[in-house]
Amino acid sequence: MSARIIDGVALGKTIRQEVAAEVAALKGRGVVPGLAVVLVGENPASKAYVGSKEKACLEAGMHSVKVQRPETLPEADLLAIVDQLNHDPAIHGILVQLPLPKHINTEKVLLRINPAKDVDGFHPVNVGKLVIGDPTALRPCTPWGVIQMLLRNGIETRGANAVIIGRSTIVGKPMANLLIQTGPGGDATVTVCHSKTRDLPAVVRGADIVIAAIGKAEFVTADMVRPGATVIDVGINRVDDPSVPKGYRLVGDVAYGPVAEKAAAITPVPGGVGPMTIAMLMANTLQAMKQVV
Ligand code: NDP
Repeated sequence: MSARIIDGVALGKTIRQEVAAEVAALKGRGVVPGLAVVLVGENPASKAYVGSKEKACLEAGMHSVKVQRPETLPEADLLAIVDQLNHDPAIHGILVQLPLPKHINTEKVLLRINPAKDVDGFHPVNVGKLVIGDPTALRPCTPWGVIQMLLRNGIETRGANAVIIGRSTIVGKPMANLLIQTGPGGDATVTVCHSKTRDLPAVVRGADIVIAAIGKAEFVTADMVRPGATVIDVGINRVDDPSVPKGYRLVGDVAYGPVAEKAAAITPVPGGVGPMTIAMLMANTLQAMKQVV
């Protein structure tokens, strides 16, 4: 068997076009969704992410604000920036790019964001809303993007055994909370694996849907995957590759080639979950705006 490839680039583009069409229609009523992205420091990966987010915002016809400050920014000043954005009526979504410098308490900053503008979905209010199934929850972009991939590729989650590998706050836990909700894209029987899981390969072999979010290159091997399973690879890992000019290439948490021989459907890396994350950020900003105007 050779798996069907779930194309995150194409789906991400479709979702961004849907958002852009709604933004254009809303403009006629004089409202424009606005997203503020706050970047502290010079982390090259963070800078690249922020650049992509800004570009996606402009392409969707949204108002975009980038707040960039040096690595030495005092915590109090960052909190003041968040306060100012919380009160800015032109801003409907606020994203503070992580990781923050070590002298800043990330938790404190994320808690300061008005939950109605928390388009990353990390504030406890949104986490709680997600858990109880409140549709006004702003959902974390990466797992919410995975749900869209499953839904829009006709992959049935109802009654499916879904095994998530990884229990982080940004991917694994919200992924589990989304998949156990009632209704489309939910109703799955969910197992969450982590570093203390006993006989992880046996647990993963029971999965109809495997979602890997571990951060370890090619951790999920073909022997762990049941024939006909759907495999979603959230991982992004750099591995050395002297044969390419950059000296490295990106691989996921899944051994793509061998697993694709066994699975029914699989996401590639790059070009899978990654582009969905930015698309869902745009969708969340639009949702945040619609919930307040
Ligand atoms: P974290 O490092 O926060 O979490 C990793 C999780 O994997 C932990 O729960 C850890 O378990 C578990 N884990 C690590 N090693 C093992 C092991 N040997 N066996 C079983 N479980 C293990 O990572 P993130 O969730 O933030 O990210 C995961 C991956 O997804 C990364 O590659 C990251 O780059 C990528 N990512 C991609 C995004 C995208 O847009 N595509 C967005 C966000 C992340 P324990 O809790 O027990 O330590």
